[in-house]
Amino acid sequence: MINIVLFGKPGAGKGTQAEFLKGKYNLTHLSTGDIFRFNIKNDTDLGKLAKSYMDNGDLVPDEVTIKMLQSEVDKNQDSAGFLFDGFPRTIAQAQALDAFLATKDDKITATIALEADDEILIQRLLERGKTSGRVDDQDEEKIRNRYQEYNEKTAPLMEYYTKQNKFYPVNGIGSIAEITERLSTVIESL
Ligand code: AMP
Repeated sequence: MINIVLFGKPGAGKGTQAEFLKGKYNLTHLSTGDIFRFNIKNDTDLGKLAKSYMDNGDLVPDEVTIKMLQSEVDKNQDSAGFLFDGFPRTIAQAQALDAFLATKDDKITATIALEADDEILIQRLLERGKTSGRVDDQDEEKIRNRYQEYNEKTAPLMEYYTKQNKFYPVNGIGSIAEITERLSTVIESL
């Protein structure tokens, strides 16, 4: 079983790359952002709760996010491995994920980070916002808030996974195919 955390700032290309990697390595792709958006679209209680945080570019509270993620893992008991996209985003989430996987005699194999400059990513998100319909992609102030959330709460995970010798940075600038190739090289070296 291999379990990969795809790590990176908003707009780094995690979702795009996950689409290629999940088929190539037979992994179950779990994007917490996508799961929240699905719940918002279907007007569930979880969706109602998550919406205001997401629309403002704030993180959804840990307790809610962790519970949701665990239930998604449990729904995929027969999976050959997971590709976590957008989770964990806080130290508490990372610790909860480690503890949860340990109860299944499992663990994170590697955290692979797509690296790119903030200003390039902000322009990319504004461009995506023209067609994605995502409120949080359309307003520069909200995008900047997402980066602030990232810097304060998510960036410390680099050290968390580096200490476990599981952190692999990859250059996230290039064509989609080039970046898939870089990620594949890391995955195949594990
Ligand atoms: P994403 O699609 O990964 O960019 O996530 C969009 C939004 O969903 C984020 O800005 C947060 O509001 C929320 N979200 C997604 N994943 C998480 C997470 N692991 N923890 C907290 N909030 C999250």
